[in-house]
Amino acid sequence: MKYYSLNHNAPKVSFQEAVIQGLASDKGLYFPENITPLDPSFFDKIESLSHEEIAFEAIKQFVGDEIPAEKLKEIIADTLVFDFPVVKVENGIYSLELFHGPTMAFKDVGARFMSRCLGYFNKDKKDAKNTVLVATSGDTGGAVASGFLGVDGVDVVILYPSGKVSDIQEKQLTTLGQNIKALEVDGVFDDCQDMVKKAFLDETLAHKNLTSANSINIARWLPQMFYFFFAYKALKSQNKPLVFSCPSGNFGNICAGIMAKKLGLPIEHFVASTNVNDTVPRFLENGKYDPKPSKATISNAMDVGNPSNFIRIQELYNNDLKAFEKDFSSYSYTDEETLDALKKIYNTDGYIAEPHGAVGYLGLKKELEKHPNAIGIFLETAHPIKFLDVVEPALGITLPIPAQIESVINEEKVSVKIKSYEELKGFLNL
Ligand SMILES: *Cc1c(COP(=O)(O)O)cnc(C)c1O
Repeated sequence: MKYYSLNHNAPKVSFQEAVIQGLASDKGLYFPENITPLDPSFFDKIESLSHEEIAFEAIKQFVGDEIPAEKLKEIIADTLVFDFPVVKVENGIYSLELFHGPTMAFKDVGARFMSRCLGYFNKDKKDAKNTVLVATSGDTGGAVASGFLGVDGVDVVILYPSGKVSDIQEKQLTTLGQNIKALEVDGVFDDCQDMVKKAFLDETLAHKNLTSANSINIARWLPQMFYFFFAYKALKSQNKPLVFSCPSGNFGNICAGIMAKKLGLPIEHFVASTNVNDTVPRFLENGKYDPKPSKATISNAMDVGNPSNFIRIQELYNNDLKAFEKDFSSYSYTDEETLDALKKIYNTDGYIAEPHGAVGYLGLKKELEKHPNAIGIFLETAHPIKFLDVVEPALGITLPIPAQIESVINEEKVSVKIKSYEELKGFLNL
């Protein structure tokens, strides 16, 4: 499979090159040259297939012959080491729980898949290792650290703003050791991000083979299709149209869902639910794509002013706005509305959501008014414990600490403090 740049000013590349480069040389996102729908018989028999078999069918055309089938199956098995329950919340409303992985957020899926692909591509080049360099404001870093832990041929360097991530998040970044290094930056998230960007452009670091691990990377984005298929499998016997609502920040998750639909998965409608960072809802209202600087909210993993994957969604619809609007809605909610929804879901339905899931629930409820016969599914993208400062006071409860969190919370933090780009460079050149 070849991938082209959505800026149309860079050479086409293989799956391997796209995974290693992350972004094309013209700064465009990579997009697959062909998308072939799956055979209808696959959907007829989906209930008899395992999650691993479903995932293999969904992704194999995007990898092509660059990873042998047996190895790809192994990578998938290593990725899907946890479950994806579809939990009934109310009549006709389900939560697709994506938080049962090692760091308790859906980003575990993409991080595990990408790390193992990169490990495979690096297996024979012991001295030309890749270094994954990421800046994190919270969730991404933990998923990347855990996903890449112990993967041969890949070093990981994570930059995070000192004192600006939660205790749990910091422990998830700084306690693993082995090939994972944490740099604690005296500054805010944007300082970390700026240093990372500078390093990617720095020719004196070319020998480090730096690569990124955020959702622009096709190996993080595409495996996020898997759980839309799993939810379909779980709900198929009810024989109703499906509406999915994704709490959206960079729009990687929802873009993967739309790709699943392109492959033939029968999904009636998508809702991109956002917090007050409402660039896409405004676009759908007035036709103008007008990104704004991000605003801080209680659903902070979605505090994104200019969603990077939106351009991929437009490409999936060949920039046909009519066709796009038929399948897709987007609604925005304030923190106050989010807190009210959290309480409502708990008090009426007995379900503990967290702020991102609650935003997803609100968008879903609104869209279902137009689809009275449909089943609605919102993606619950993180475990409530990851947002305990919001969830516990809002609901007046104390959450038990899950085993995945317990195991890092008592480990000792190991990080290197840095203040400047020069110090980052010095660290990378050690
Ligand atoms: C990253 C993240 C999101 C946003 O996902 P996108 O794919 O960027 O739209 C939502 N919820 C949580 C908990 C996240 O970590």
